[in-house]
Amino acid sequence: MKRMKNQSLMALLLVISLLVLSACGAGGESHGSEGNGKKKIRIGYLPITHAAPLYLEQGLEKEGYEIELVKFGSWPDLMDALNTGHIDGASVLVQLAMRAKEQGIDLKTVALGHKDGNVLVAGQDIEDVTDLRGQSYAIPSRFSSHNILLYEMLKQAGVGYDEVNVIELAPPEMPVALAEGRISGYVVAEPFGASSVAAGHGKVLFQSDELWPNSVCCVLVLRQEWIDSNPELTQKVVQKYVEAGLLAEHKDDHAKAVLGNFLNVNEEVLDLSLGWIHYDDLVLDEESYRKLSEYLVEMGLTENPPAYEDFVDNTFIERALQSL
Ligand code: ZN
Repeated sequence: MKRMKNQSLMALLLVISLLVLSACGAGGESHGSEGNGKKKIRIGYLPITHAAPLYLEQGLEKEGYEIELVKFGSWPDLMDALNTGHIDGASVLVQLAMRAKEQGIDLKTVALGHKDGNVLVAGQDIEDVTDLRGQSYAIPSRFSSHNILLYEMLKQAGVGYDEVNVIELAPPEMPVALAEGRISGYVVAEPFGASSVAAGHGKVLFQSDELWPNSVCCVLVLRQEWIDSNPELTQKVVQKYVEAGLLAEHKDDHAKAVLGNFLNVNEEVLDLSLGWIHYDDLVLDEESYRKLSEYLVEMGLTENPPAYEDFVDNTFIERALQSL
């Protein structure tokens, strides 16, 4: 009994000392965005192929700035951090950013995350889109381009959206759910589509550009108050981001090695996934945004999407493109 008491006491002391140590650590980092003499920006991301330009962004340190990439496990967690100012910006699904803007969070899109890059996956037993009637099909969120792509695919095939059991699932769960036959297919950010195709559990029904040319999916958004306080750093961040997009577009060994540090995938899956996506034109133009907004209204996901000029600020990316 006494021995157990001693062990409990030791464990308690250990916990206390760890807490003290971690508090010191947190204190060391909490001098604010200029703690080590460098102005810092914190950008949130999910480990997906769609955020590749962020992973390849480099060179800010040499200019006295620091970029901290903050990894999240889910879109709701990332949006909470963005909406409360715990991060200054994020690579995020455009619909989630639009929704936050509608709810009064002042965000601005300063660049796209990518172009194209989504596939609609189905199990091997699905011959045709009409076979999805009465089946379950997964999307990451109702507020996603993946949901719009599903809507458009069904519409073109003459299948009612209500004829399919559309379910929201966390992206990493989708390949497993398909392999186990719990769903008949899914559409989600990469590399989760490629993962099922490479494993032989799924096939590509459509690529995004076949259904919705110039589809908008992920965007780089920043908080407006952060842009206003840091216009110079915003310009640098967007500049390096655009350059990183061009590096990503090479899809060469360097790009793949960097992506491999952020994504838990094998080379076959990564190659497949990169074959569907583009990073060399990251301007969100008005026509693409208008089409996106029309879809959201048509699908009943919003009544009043943010106006293009309120939600998109292309001044930084235009300046960046001029100086390339
Ligand atoms: Zn995306």
